[in-house]
Amino acid sequence: MLGKIGLEEHFAVEETVGHIPAGLKNAEERKKKLLDIFNMRVAEMDKYGMDLMILSLNSPAIQETYNAREAVDLARRCNDHLAECIARRPDRFRGFAALPMQDPDAAIEEMERCVKDYGFKGALVNGYSQIGSPDTAVYLDDKRYWPFWAKMQELDVPFYLHPRNPMKDQRKIYDGHPWLMAAAWAFTVETATHMLRLLCSGIFDEYPKLKLIVGHLGECVPFHSWRTQNRLNRDPRPRPFKLTIQEYLKRNVYVTTSGFCSTPALINTIAEMGVERVMFSTDYPFETVEDAATWFDNAEIPEDVRAKIGRDNARALFNL
Ligand code: MN
Repeated sequence: MLGKIGLEEHFAVEETVGHIPAGLKNAEERKKKLLDIFNMRVAEMDKYGMDLMILSLNSPAIQETYNAREAVDLARRCNDHLAECIARRPDRFRGFAALPMQDPDAAIEEMERCVKDYGFKGALVNGYSQIGSPDTAVYLDDKRYWPFWAKMQELDVPFYLHPRNPMKDQRKIYDGHPWLMAAAWAFTVETATHMLRLLCSGIFDEYPKLKLIVGHLGECVPFHSWRTQNRLNRDPRPRPFKLTIQEYLKRNVYVTTSGFCSTPALINTIAEMGVERVMFSTDYPFETVEDAATWFDNAEIPEDVRAKIGRDNARALFNL
């Protein structure tokens, strides 16, 4: 289909382009594609019917910049660069802010600046943040972030929770199996658990209009939601959240098809969440527009469903 919109589409600047997970083939080509905005990228978009990319910085970049002042400064410069790129091709690009979660007040300020001054469409954050030392991990349900979530609700823009690898001291289960790190599996476990922490924190009860986007068809959480909820229903311990996992998924969460070109998995996600909550994405340049678009354009789904997922849901969510 023509006119596709993608929500998980990455770029890098010289300072962050080295921050990509190890083990990728064609690492040099990947770096070139991350740094390029207007040439190879637009050519791929043109060739495969993609009108618009909402661009975001590569992972983990800001989140692993554990010196908070450096994180604040780097995020600001990356967002300035992104805003300049969007201004050159507003017909093809929009942006998600990179945020220095190491300093929650600065993250609020940067979010507000990016929305109000630059018209950014939300934020994309790469999982937990290291703060003060590389051995720390602060997850986004932490109480220090609740004013940030209040601001996200007030600004009425979505928050995209993007993967990163688990902390170094939490990789025991992958010993001897380095190929299971990153997108093969470890990203999913890390990000799904982080997402469940958010859903089970009470944040979505306190800020019921918050919008959370998760890539890779929801990191298996929609598929697993019945089993998770079934056990939550039988757990007598007091807890800070009021709704069921399925209720949050259908009220607060959107997922994208980034890096996940499976029609049976897509149909399952639609069945669990509703077609309005699923949107096309490629995960460029870690995946190709060619692979994502060729799969999506030919997937055996009704044409009205393809139009919603490929374009119309994103138009509605981001007022495009
Ligand atoms: Mn990605």
